[in-house]
Amino acid sequence: MWRTVGHPQAVSYLERSLGSGRMAHAYLLVGQRHVGKGTLAQDTARALNCQGESPPCGACSACERIDRGTHPDVLRVGLLSDEKTGRPRTEISIDQMREVASLAALPPYEGGHRVFIIDGAELLSTEAANALLKTLEEPSPKVVFLLLSAAEGILLPTVTSRCQRVELRPLPAQEVAGFLEATGMDPEEAQLRMRLSNGSPGRALDQEFLSRRGEALAQAEAMLSQGSWDRLALAAERAASYDKERDAEFLDLWLGWWRDLLLLRAGCPDAVANADHAAALERTARALSLSQIKGAIHSLRAAAEGLRHHASPRLALEVMVLNLPHLEA
Ligand SMILES: [Zn+2]
Repeated sequence: MWRTVGHPQAVSYLERSLGSGRMAHAYLLVGQRHVGKGTLAQDTARALNCQGESPPCGACSACERIDRGTHPDVLRVGLLSDEKTGRPRTEISIDQMREVASLAALPPYEGGHRVFIIDGAELLSTEAANALLKTLEEPSPKVVFLLLSAAEGILLPTVTSRCQRVELRPLPAQEVAGFLEATGMDPEEAQLRMRLSNGSPGRALDQEFLSRRGEALAQAEAMLSQGSWDRLALAAERAASYDKERDAEFLDLWLGWWRDLLLLRAGCPDAVANADHAAALERTARALSLSQIKGAIHSLRAAAEGLRHHASPRLALEVMVLNLPHLEA
């Protein structure tokens, strides 16, 4: 059974390729974070190696070992932690890709397929991407590469041109809510998380995301009563973490907060995404004018655009925080 939630076209495309024995050598699964790329890759790896009658059965020894991460022919490659600091590194290294290349040259240990799942292909260092390219140029039989990326625009075109592209779009809201309710979640909680998920079912279940969101919303609210000095300190802190992780999720969360203020000001409380913060949002919306809210959204979007176009993150964020309106505490 495929465990991928939604994405019927992508699943049936891969199923058909598997059924006809015409799997490509490499696939690029693209889509926003938590949209289902990892689950689809895992399903494909199981389907390619399953010993049951209707692959991926989920019950045979191969499927179980792939789930546990102990199958010798299925390797998941992603960011490693730094041995000294314990923090995740910022790139997938050439050494990791050399290991992949040497394994890819060997026949599958158990006779099925060797599957390499490269999670976060945009994080390959230039040397690592070039090493991968060499492996893709000389495909061995029974080897399948699954590259996962939320930012395909920064992948080497020479790599992407060797992959079959499979796009996973955000899921419709009600599909996410249905999936959450099927996990036994309380319907009201499911509705809230559905709105926060942005079409990514995995995001709605990610506790770390929920705590990052809590922190970002608290910052968005606190900034309004902060002076320039505190705002600049926050901008510097966020810019430093952006420099390391290249992740502007906090900006999306701040934008979500401001979007909710706009919706409240426009008289559409039912469309508010952060419904569990309704009291604080309503209080803030009452204290701001429509043009102040629109101005703030414009500044946030300009900062996000700046980051996408490689502006100095610190400068882009400093300009933004200083442009936000000020409320007396
Ligand atoms: Zn199986």
